[in-house]
Formats: sequence, C-alpha cells, structure tokens
Amino acid sequence: MPSIYSILEVIIIKVEQADVLIIGSGGAGLRCALELFDHNVDVLVVGKCKKRDAHTILATGGINAALGTMDPQDSWQLHAADTLRDGGQINDPYAVVTLCKHAPRAIQELVSWGAHFHREQDGRITQRFFGAATYRRACFIGDHTGREILNTLVDQVAKRNIRFKSEIYIFSLLQDRGRVYGAVGLDVRRGKFIVFHAKIVVLVTGGHSRMFSRSSSRFWENTGDGIALAYACGAKFMDMEMFQFHPTGMLYPKEAEGVLVTEAVRGEGGILLNSKGERFMRRYDPERLELSARDIVARAIYHEVQAGRGTKHGGVWLDITHKPKEYILQRLPKMYAQFQHFLGIDISREHMEVGPTAHYSMGGVWVNHKTGETSVNRLYAIGEVTSGVHGANRLGGNSLAEIIVFGRLTGATIAKCVKQLSWIPLNKLSLATQIAKFKTKLQIKRGKNPVHIKKELMQVMWDHVGVVRDGKTMKQALRLLERFKKMPLKSGGSLKMNEQLIAALDVANMLPTCEMIIRSALHRKESRGAHYRSDFPTLLARWKKNILCIPMQKGFRIATRPVPSVPNEIRPFLRRNTAAVHLLE
Ligand SMILES: Cc1cc2nc3c(=O)[nH]c(=O)nc-3n(C[C@H](O)[C@H](O)[C@H](O)COP(=O)(O)OP(=O)(O)OC[C@H]3O[C@@H](n4cnc5c(N)ncnc54)[C@H](O)[C@@H]3O)c2cc1C
Repeated sequence: MPSIYSILEVIIIKVEQADVLIIGSGGAGLRCALELFDHNVDVLVVGKCKKRDAHTILATGGINAALGTMDPQDSWQLHAADTLRDGGQINDPYAVVTLCKHAPRAIQELVSWGAHFHREQDGRITQRFFGAATYRRACFIGDHTGREILNTLVDQVAKRNIRFKSEIYIFSLLQDRGRVYGAVGLDVRRGKFIVFHAKIVVLVTGGHSRMFSRSSSRFWENTGDGIALAYACGAKFMDMEMFQFHPTGMLYPKEAEGVLVTEAVRGEGGILLNSKGERFMRRYDPERLELSARDIVARAIYHEVQAGRGTKHGGVWLDITHKPKEYILQRLPKMYAQFQHFLGIDISREHMEVGPTAHYSMGGVWVNHKTGETSVNRLYAIGEVTSGVHGANRLGGNSLAEIIVFGRLTGATIAKCVKQLSWIPLNKLSLATQIAKFKTKLQIKRGKNPVHIKKELMQVMWDHVGVVRDGKTMKQALRLLERFKKMPLKSGGSLKMNEQLIAALDVANMLPTCEMIIRSALHRKESRGAHYRSDFPTLLARWKKNILCIPMQKGFRIATRPVPSVPNEIRPFLRRNTAAVHLLE
C-alpha cells in the first residue's frame, strides 16, 4: 500500500516557497509585488489567468487623480468628497483620504515606468469627466487605460525577474492555528497540484461580478474565489450587499451580453435616449444628466424599460453621433471597434443599444486600510476583493487608482514586518487532507453539469438580487441557493483542462459569496447607493452603517458597525454644492 505521502508526491508537481505569496496577477497584485521586490522581499505572484490577461486589462475609461491639469481648482479633498458622497457616506474615510492623497503619485509612478497617458499639445496629461466627479479628473490612454497600466506593470515585473506563475487555480489556503501560511492550487494546464509555502499571503483576486448572468467581466473570472478562500479561513466581510450595476453594457448578441460600454462615451458627450427619442435623464437628474452617478443612471434605464419606453432588446439608446468620426476614433477607439466587431455598427453614424450590467463589487473582505491586513492572521488583501474604499457606490476611475495606491502601501507595510516572521512548517497531513477533500468534493462522476449550474446560479442572482431588489424575491433566491448547495456536481475525470472541474470550483466559490450578498441585502432595509430596494425605497439616516458578515463555527452571522467619522479636513468640501461646476467640456 503506498503511503498518503507518496501519493502526494505523485500528484503534486512541486512546492514553491517565497516570503510573500501574492494570489492574483491584476493591477493590485503586480503593484504590490513591485513594492515588495524593491524592498528586497522574496515574492511570488500566481494568477489563474494568462500573464497579461488579468481582468484589469478590461478597464477602459481612466484612472482618477486630482492633478488639476485641466481644472486647476481640483484638489484631493474634492476628490475625497466626491468619493464619499457617491459612496453613500458609508466608505471608510481613512481609506478614501489615503486613496485621494496618493493618487497623483500613482500617476507619476506609472508615467516613470513608461505608461503613455493622453496629453494635451502643451504636454499636460489630459483629464476627462467621469460620472459624479466635480472636475475633470480621469487620466486615460484612449479607452484602453487598464491594458496599458497592466502591461506597464508586467514589464516592470519582468525587468526585475519577479517569479510569476500563470494558469494556477488556487482553491485552498493553508492555515495553522489561525495563521495563513500558503496555498494549494491546481495547475490547470498540467493537471497537477502545486503547493505554495509562504510567510504571508496577499489576496488580490479581484471582484465577484460573475455572480450575475449579465456582467462586464468574462465568464471565467470574477467568480468570488478570493471571497471563498478568505471565508474558509474565517475572515470578516463588509458591505457585501453593495454591488455596482454599470448603466451601459451591450445587450446582444449573446456572446457580447453585458460587455461594457465605457462611461467615457458619456464623458465625451454621449447622450441617452429612450425608444420615444426622449433624453430621459432630464427626469432623473436634471443637473448632471448622463453624468449622474452610476446607480442613478442604471435605475433610470431600468425604470424607462419597465415603463415600456425601452428598445427592442430591453435597453435604451446611447448616442454619440453628434461627434466627428475622427474624434471618436481618437478618444473611443475600443468602443468603435467593439460595436463594429459584434454588430457591424459604426457608432459615429448609429446609436448603441445599452442596458445595465453587473460591474463592480464594492463589498468584500474587510481590511484595515492602514496596513492591508484582513481579520485573519498573516492574510492581507488589496483591490476589488476588499471593501471600504467605495462604500455604497464606486466613482468611475477610482478602482484603478485604488489598486496602484494600496498595492504600493500594502507592499511597503508587509516589507517592514515579513523579515521578523518565522516560517510555519508545511503540514503534510493537512495538505493531504485538503487534496483528498478536493477529490471527494470535486471529482464526482455523477451529478449535474457544473457549467449549466453556474449559469443557472448567475441567472438567479440577476433575476432576484439585481438592479432593483425586494425582500420577497431575495428570500426566494436564498431558498434556491439552498437547493444549489445540495446538488452533486459531475466533474470527474481528468485534472487537466477539465472545463467541468473548473466550473465546479467556480460554483463552490460562488455559493458563499452569493449567500453573503443576499443576506446582507436582506438586512439593509433602506436604499443607499447601488443597493436599491423597492420595498424600502428611501435612504434612512439610521442605516448609515456598514453591514458585516462575521464568521461562526458554521457559516456566518450578520452584524453592523457605525461608519468611522469623516476627518475635519474633508467636511467643508462635503457640504459644498458642486453640481454648478459640473459641466461638460
Ligand atoms: C469592462 C471594465 C471596465 C473598467 N473600467 C475601469 C476604469 O475605466 N477605471 C477604473 O478605475 N476601473 C475600471 N474597472 C474596474 C477595474 O478594472 C477593476 O476593479 C480592477 O482592475 C481590479 O483589479 P484587481 O487587481 O483588484 O483585480 P483583477 O484585475 O481582477 O485581478 C485578479 C487576479 O486574481 C486572479 N485570480 C482570481 N481568482 C484566482 C484563483 N482562484 N487562483 C489564482 N488566481 C486567481 C486572476 O487571475 C487575476 O489575475 C473596469 C472594469 C471592467 C470589467
């Protein structure tokens, strides 16, 4: 009889060791890795996607920083006030201040590493409007800002020879007496397990917009992996009900459903029309019109469609045809190509048909933004997987700023403490148990096809917990979730390039993520920011608090906490009526 250890040796390719393991190779992970390396820390980055293909490349419109190149009146305090106001004032004020103070430096860093931001003829970095921003604050590179930023970071990582492993699906964290000390993943190409041994683990796995059937992310990402990994370790979560539905996603063909139509189209002067040709935003936000906050525009579209003023595919029209074709090609090249590619439409001549799409997770793992620490010992988190920065709604352009700012700051904090930490020895028995658990739970030969179940689950979330929510429908979703939890999923067979196995892993990650979203959304009996309940349609002062999911022996419980107070330096800016200065260029 071979021993459990010799079995392990056959199915594990190797054990990789590094002081710091970064799970996620998007902007947050790479920026953190650079900081650690520059502080002489041994770091390893692992991602389940290909090297230059993390979700960050999808970011289109821009990255916010109060540089004041176009509007010198802008300041980091105004940026902070806009962020708090749009966030329904449940953001963590410390995180917001840090973001806004450090964002200009993030742009300088990216420029120094070779990012080619769009510039005016006199060399100033061009900045454009994004929804709910007082001044032009979004720096951009055409409409492929995320791609340029990610490539810039990957180039810097390559220049430093930082260890980087792609296409590894991490499915479990290693923990010893509450301390995290590594992770186990599946090398998807080779069909072997791989073990990562580290002193500190940084979770940078991005958001969870793929809980919903119409989403601006791709089918294989944003499946809540980081949430599930942290959940299994007993981490605390915050504001899970807060999910941003971007107002403008494509509606058809099927393979393009949910694909983002960047806010930059509206920033560049695009207007929204219903099927009667009315500029309906005049009814919902007469001051800011199309550049109102994302939640307001998304709900306005939802209501227009409900009222029978929608287009054939259940959306509205977005019109930029009043701008010259050369201008569109220069400022919105990706959008031009996207509509050509999917529909053969020339957006300089024809309207785009658009509707809301699940876009951004404001809620996530709770972190102490002073350090990047989660509530679990030796587990840190940065970027879209976390909560706090954006509160109840995210300003467009703030996420790219967040991943660069907090990537650097968290890297610097870890660099200060990691050397003093001792190694926790690898526990072979616990490893064997994790892999055995994986095999029993995820290698079942009979059951439902997980690819289909994943789609069904996403549809339940879109139909029951989407743009407009109510208690009765969400309770139905919870009941359906219980059924999904009990379903055996058929994912047996090869460990190598097995689509069903990957989908089964995704579903396993989605279930706790969905449950925390629904239970938190049921608990918040008001409407605030992106969370809109038709049975509680008003914002209530008593709900100005954060909702927490606190781990229990089994499952979690819901709790609330008061929002920390806003620093005095920001208060006067919050009171100011900024609508008057919010003009299109
Ligand atoms: C279409 C679109 C347009 C956007 N436009 C803008 C914009 O203009 N401005 C802006 O500020 N923001 C924008 N955003 C949001 C922004 O792109 C993201 O919030 C940001 O890039 C998140 O970065 P991240 O590093 O936190 O995560 P990600 O870039 O999502 O990276 C997550 C990483 O984790 C890895 N990972 C996940 N699970 C696992 C696992 N189990 N095992 C191993 N690795 C794993 C992934 O492979 C990936 O490498 C946009 C988003 C979309 C979808």
